[in-house]
Amino acid sequence: MTVVAVGTLAFDSIETPYDRREDALGGSATYFAYAASFFTPVQLVGVVGKDFGAGHLADLQKRGVDTAGVEVADGKSFRWSGRYEADWNTRHTLDTQLNVFEHFDPKVPGDYRTSPYVFLANAAPDIQMKALAQCTGARFTMADTMNLWIDIARDGLLELLRKVDGVVLNDEEARLLTGERHLLRAARKVLELGPRFVVLKKGEHGAFLIGRDVHFALPAYPVDEVIDPTGAGDSFAGGFLGYLASVRNTDPRTLRRAMLYGTVTASYCVEGFSVERIGAIDRSKVESRFNELFSLVSL
Ligand code: AMP
Repeated sequence: MTVVAVGTLAFDSIETPYDRREDALGGSATYFAYAASFFTPVQLVGVVGKDFGAGHLADLQKRGVDTAGVEVADGKSFRWSGRYEADWNTRHTLDTQLNVFEHFDPKVPGDYRTSPYVFLANAAPDIQMKALAQCTGARFTMADTMNLWIDIARDGLLELLRKVDGVVLNDEEARLLTGERHLLRAARKVLELGPRFVVLKKGEHGAFLIGRDVHFALPAYPVDEVIDPTGAGDSFAGGFLGYLASVRNTDPRTLRRAMLYGTVTASYCVEGFSVERIGAIDRSKVESRFNELFSLVSL
């Protein structure tokens, strides 16, 4: 089953304690599509500027990502820059330039609209809502967000949360959204806002899945070396939802398996800048790390 993904395609400038990159390919939808495409075809909705170049879109197409829903607008692509502290969990956004994204009016192509699986990657909540409204065949929807939108577009975000099945948040976002310091209480408050389940990401400490009928916790896959955590959340979501769509099942046991796949795709993402590592591996590498993680957490 295909997955529709809406979000940013971007140029990122990243500083880590050890290295830096300027104008590397990034964006919430980009990372999601790279990860989900190990499992299932992805239909992408977004906007880029004339500076984006055809190469990045061609690379996505080679992975089975349909980019017909990516509009090329006059102007510059979305740009983001960030800096990580040595603990990797603390990230400072240095600059966000919405550029063509500022006035983006998403148009979901007709042949995407029947897809039952939809991911609203990190983007302005009104863009996420407009896209969701066009996905008339949607049966299982998930959304991601970021502190920026919780701060400046809270009402729109609350409206969106009433409409989606699941939401992915990191610990800081969950606290900011609910005002609750204790993570599990924050998760329960998120459920009161509408979603059926929440995936709470805690960076290198792993992730929780908390829903009305499912509770699950998983450590992160212990990678030898983190190079750049950017995109870990989106790659997690891509592995998670891509797997669910590929097996056409969202029961609690399948959601748990999806947590392992999300953890694995995120682990490959952080092993390189941009999509350098996740774009260089194949499904067999995903499966072998899945098996490793599975035995790590089994009795
Ligand atoms: P993650 O590390 O999973 O939170 O995702 C990072 C990606 O999100 C980067 O590649 C950025 O280009 C993109 N991004 C950063 N800020 C925003 C924002 N406010 N809205 C949408 N995408 C963003």
